Amino acid sequence: MAEREGFEPSMTLLPYRFSKPARSTTLPPLQGDFSLNTVYHTTTIPPCYTLTMNIVVGGPMFSGKTTWLIEYTKKLQDNSYVIYKPNLDTRYATNAIVTHHGQSLPATNINYLNPQIPKLGRSIKTILFDELNFFSFNTLFSEIQRQNKLGRDIVGVGLLFDSKKNPFGATLPLSKYVHAFIELFSICDGCGKKANHSYRKIQLKKQIAIGASEIYGACCEKCWADLQR
Ligand SMILES: [Zn+2]
Repeated sequence: MAEREGFEPSMTLLPYRFSKPARSTTLPPLQGDFSLNTVYHTTTIPPCYTLTMNIVVGGPMFSGKTTWLIEYTKKLQDNSYVIYKPNLDTRYATNAIVTHHGQSLPATNINYLNPQIPKLGRSIKTILFDELNFFSFNTLFSEIQRQNKLGRDIVGVGLLFDSKKNPFGATLPLSKYVHAFIELFSICDGCGKKANHSYRKIQLKKQIAIGASEIYGACCEKCWADLQR
């Protein structure tokens, strides 16, 4: 096939390319009753990529993302993990992740604009992130990749979309690089059905406004559309 001599497949323009094959990791079974409001998406990572994150959990406000993260740590050995949170989110505490129901675990603040993880001891096998949405994909991805090459598992939770349904920070793009993407749902404030969106109760122009139920609620697709009128 003369016409194919010198043929080179066009490079797929993906943002990152790695020669190491995907590491096979057996995920510990999930605990807790997440089955009622959870959708599991299994993702296929192209073999040219190293596995980057093991699990990303996304969902709207009040869907139990931080609760999920805290539950997840219960199956990890003590002192084998660290939790990072963006230094932007000071809603309930500056040195802990806290659920809307007051459950908490110690966490370390990390610069959300430049999330450089300091050198960690060899005992640290898992790195967990709360509020992935406050990080940008590019800066967080390279740091996660570095940690993953050191053999650490990465688990993170965050909002998928902001209250205008625009992709919010790193959560959605990171969900393409995981073993499992888990989508959580909340209950619609308007009709009581399954909610997959967040909405603002007060009008604010900026995308990032730190707040909880005084500013935000969760709603279904239909009620979200009604609110836009
Ligand atoms: Zn509704």
